[in-house]
Amino acid sequence: MPNNKRNGNNGGPPVATLVLIAAIFFIAIVFGNRLMNLLFSAGQEEVTYNTFLTAVAENKIKDAEISDTQISYRLRTEENEKRSKLYYTNRLPDVDLTEVTQTLQKNGVEFSAAPVDDGSSSMLFSWIILPLIFFFGLMLLMRIITNRSGGGGGGFGGIGGIGKSRAKVYMEKETGVTFRDVAGQDEAKESLVEIIDFLHNPKKYTAIGAKLPKGALLVGSPGTGKTLLAKAVAGEAHVPFFSISGSDFVEMFVGVGASRVRDLFKEASKVAPAIIFIDEIDAIGRSRDSRFGGNDEREQTLNQLLAEIDGFDSSNGVVILAATNRPEILDKALLRAGRFDRRIIVDRPNLEGRYQTLLVHTRNIHLAEDVDLKKLAQATAGAVGADLANLVNEAALRAVRMGRRAVNQQDLLVSFETVIAGTEKKGTVLTDIEKRIVSYHEVGHALVAAMKKHSQPVSKITIVPHTSGALGYTMQMPEEEKFLNSKEELIIELQTLLGGRAAEQVVFGIQTTGAANDIQRATELARKMVTQYGMSEKIGLMALATAQNEYLDGKAYMDCAQTTADDADHEVRALLNACYEDAKKLLREKRELLDEIALYLLEKETITGDDLMKFVNADANCLPAGEEATEE
Ligand code: ADP
Ligand code: ZN
Repeated sequence: MPNNKRNGNNGGPPVATLVLIAAIFFIAIVFGNRLMNLLFSAGQEEVTYNTFLTAVAENKIKDAEISDTQISYRLRTEENEKRSKLYYTNRLPDVDLTEVTQTLQKNGVEFSAAPVDDGSSSMLFSWIILPLIFFFGLMLLMRIITNRSGGGGGGFGGIGGIGKSRAKVYMEKETGVTFRDVAGQDEAKESLVEIIDFLHNPKKYTAIGAKLPKGALLVGSPGTGKTLLAKAVAGEAHVPFFSISGSDFVEMFVGVGASRVRDLFKEASKVAPAIIFIDEIDAIGRSRDSRFGGNDEREQTLNQLLAEIDGFDSSNGVVILAATNRPEILDKALLRAGRFDRRIIVDRPNLEGRYQTLLVHTRNIHLAEDVDLKKLAQATAGAVGADLANLVNEAALRAVRMGRRAVNQQDLLVSFETVIAGTEKKGTVLTDIEKRIVSYHEVGHALVAAMKKHSQPVSKITIVPHTSGALGYTMQMPEEEKFLNSKEELIIELQTLLGGRAAEQVVFGIQTTGAANDIQRATELARKMVTQYGMSEKIGLMALATAQNEYLDGKAYMDCAQTTADDADHEVRALLNACYEDAKKLLREKRELLDEIALYLLEKETITGDDLMKFVNADANCLPAGEEATEE
C-alpha cells in the first residue's frame, strides 16, 4: 500500500525553523542589553561630562537625577515639559560632586538621586523576556515534533497552542481526479453518484425533505483505490477535499485528537460543500470494548468525532467519506443510522477491472505494438490497483534503462515478476542437488495440475530464485475469472499444492523445508473446506468458523465446542493426507514424464506452460489406450 500518498506537505523544513529559533536566542542573549538600552533611551542624548559641567555653570539645567553611574538632566530652554529631551552623561569615577550639587542648589534646580540602577532593564529582560522567548521557542519545537510524528503536513497555523494544531489536515481545493481515473469499481461509483449530485445541488434534496447520509464507509483491501475514489467524488463535484488519516488523530497529547476533529469540521463547514475524507478510520473508530485494549485518547477522539457527525447539519453539504479495511472492528456507534450507515465495497479488481486499470495507467505511456494488456490482466489475478500502477511504472523504468522509446510486453512481464515475486536473482547460490530438488518440486506441482482435468493450466515454471525467498515457483493462469469453486476443483488445488512435496518424496525420498508455504496454503484451504464450506461429510453443513476479517487476510476464528474443533482437525488432516497420497500416486505413475520435464527445466531454468503441455501431450499420445489421448 502506498504510504506516502499524502503530498500536501508544505510545513517548511523543520531544520530552517530550528535555525531561526537558535538565531533569535543568540540575538536575544548577545544584544539583549543593548536592545533594551536602545528601547528605553529613546529621546535621550548622551553628552560629555564637560557639557554637563558647562550647563551647570551656565545655569541652564531645569532638573537632574544623579545615580551612582550616571547623571541625567533636562534643560530649561525646552518649552514643552513632556517632550523635553533628556541628556545624560556618565559620572567620572572618584570625582566629588559636592561642588556641583551646591551650584545646583544655589540655582534652585530640582535634583535627586535616581533609584539604584543596577541594570533594571536587563533584569526585566532576563526575568520576563527571556523566559517568554524560551517558552515560545519550546512551543514551536513541540509543534514541529507533533508535526513530524504524524507524517502529514500542511503549514503552521500560527502559534496558537498545541491543541489548536491544524497542521495535519490536508486540503485540496480541486483534486482534479475524476471517475475516469478510477478504473472498474462500477458498483462503488454508482453508490457515490448520488453523493456527487447532492454536493452539486443540496437544495434539490432538502426541498423534498430527503436526508442524505452524512457519511459513507469505503471498505476494501489496501491499494484498491479507496482514496482515489474519494478524491474522484470531490473532483466530480468540484468541491474541496479535506483529508486526514485516522492515525494522525491519535497523538501523544491527550485531547489533541479531539481538538483536531473539531478544527477539521470547522474548516470544512466554512467552505461547504466539501468532502472530508478520513483514511484508516479504524485507528480511532475501533470498537471500545476491551477485546482490543482501551485507550483514553482514542476514545475521546472518537466521541468528538461522533459528536461532530451528529452535530453538523448535512444540508449545508459536508459529506464524510471514511476508508477502512477492517470494518468488523469498528465501533457500532459509528455505524449507526445517520452516521456511516452507507457501506461501499471497494473490491479487488476482476479481470475486466484489472484490464481497465492497466488502460488507465498506460494512458500516458508509449507502448510498443506487441503489448497485450488483456494477457497481462489475465496473469495478474489478485493484484490490486496499486500493484498494477506500480507494475506499469516499473515497466516504464525498465524500458528507459534498456534505452528503448516504448514499453514492450517483455518489460511488463518482467515488472510483473518484480512487483509480485521480487526481482530475479541470477547466478544463484543453490547447490546442484538443491537445484535438482527444486526442479522436481516445481514440476511436481505443474504435472499434478496438468494431469487433472479441472485444474488451471500452468503458464510458467521457474527455478530461478526470487528475492521474495521463493526458490522457484509455478505460475497458474486462470483462463477466466472464477467466483465459484466446486469441491472437486478445490481438491485438485490441494493435490496441486501438495504435488511439490509429493515429488520430493517420490523421487528423492526426502522432505525439505521448501514445501512449508505449500503446506500452509493447503492447510488453510482444507480448513476452510471443512469449517466454512461444509465440504466434509463428517462435520456436515455446520459452520465452525467465522471469517473475522474478510478484506485483509480472511483469517477466521473457531466458534464451536472443543470436541467439535478436534473433529474438524481430524477431518482437515484426513483430507490433506488423502490429497497427498493421490498426488504421490499420480507422480509415481507418471515418473518418466516427471523426470523428463524436471531435467528439461533444470537445463532451461524457466519453461512456459506451452513447453509443459508439449511434454504432457506427447506422453498422452504414446499411451496405447490412454484416457487423455484424443484423436482428431
Ligand atoms: P487505498 O486508499 O484503497 O489504499 P489508493 O486509493 O491510495 O488505495 O490507491 C493507490 C494507487 O493505486 C492510486 O493512486 C492509483 O494510482 C492506484 N489505483 C488503485 N485503484 C485503482 C483503480 N481502480 N483505478 C486506477 N488506479 C487505481
Ligand atoms: Zn511448492
